[in-house]
Amino acid sequence: MARIGFIGLGRMGRPMASNLRKKGFELAVYDVDPAGVRPLAELGATDAASAAEVARQSDIVFTMLPGSPEVEATVLGKDGLIANGRAGLLIVDMSTIDPRTTDRIAQAARDSGMSVVDAPVGRLASHADRGECLFMVGGSVDDVARVQPMLQAMGSTIHHCGDVGTGIRTKLVNNYLAVVSCQLNAEALALSQRFGLDLHKTLEVIHGTTATNGQLKIAWPAKVLAGDIEPGFAIDLAHKDLTLILTAANDQRVPMPVAAAAREAYSMARAARWGRKDFSAMVDVLCDQAGIEKPRL
Ligand code: NAD
Repeated sequence: MARIGFIGLGRMGRPMASNLRKKGFELAVYDVDPAGVRPLAELGATDAASAAEVARQSDIVFTMLPGSPEVEATVLGKDGLIANGRAGLLIVDMSTIDPRTTDRIAQAARDSGMSVVDAPVGRLASHADRGECLFMVGGSVDDVARVQPMLQAMGSTIHHCGDVGTGIRTKLVNNYLAVVSCQLNAEALALSQRFGLDLHKTLEVIHGTTATNGQLKIAWPAKVLAGDIEPGFAIDLAHKDLTLILTAANDQRVPMPVAAAAREAYSMARAARWGRKDFSAMVDVLCDQAGIEKPRL
């Protein structure tokens, strides 16, 4: 059986690694924060001292880290996976990062006789808890076949998008719609609140027309509209994704004026210290600024 490593045990990585362990995979885990490691150690995972140790103990290593700098350090650093792994090591990065970083780590892996699959994750943290992630996967047919059993242990939907790098690019397209939807919803519901409309009735109308979206219909009733603004998916991470999207779009000469405006709304939320709250709380940020009662069901 392949020996599995897992690095990055935060809101997403912790339940995903737990699902691997519960389904019988041997795991060596690492996170800079010991609080992430503890629940995995209780499930019988090996508590590794570093990314280098994970690399030495594994045939396949999964990473679920905040962004590009952490992935670069973990994969390319002198104490990282490529410097310490054996030829044949397969690195599966599931973080949402700059596609150029994915291209760079894939090239570095190839140069060392290793390989990379990018498998960023769609859906919500609550899906990760239940083992119902959606994966957008980029990689060779053989590499993707090798990781299929583990992806199935963590998720319920797997899309093979093409060669390495296509998963993360698909993810940016997906998250553009999800993250901007939250800002759109925030403005719409703030207006509804200011008008003094009944929130239930407003939602009933919106959900019966083409105006609705998955954030408003599926995610928000269980998060901000229920008064729960703990992440979930943090405003800081949504801001990072919009920045990745704008950078990639600018690089390819694709103008995205709505994305640019929405990114600065997220910048304002972070400046007002909402960065660690769930991205559905964008409506609370706006209501706070405008002195409007926050919408709650
Ligand atoms: P998080 O901040 O909760 O977790 C990140 C973890 O990585 C933390 O435990 C942190 O201590 C650890 N870490 C940071 N640097 C490290 C390093 N150098 N070595 C080892 N561990 C390190 O973030 P999250 O919500 O779990 O998101 C992880 C990734 O998944 C992000 O790229 C995010 O954009 C993406 N994502 C998140 C969601 C979501 O709903 N939360 C959904 C899909 C994708």
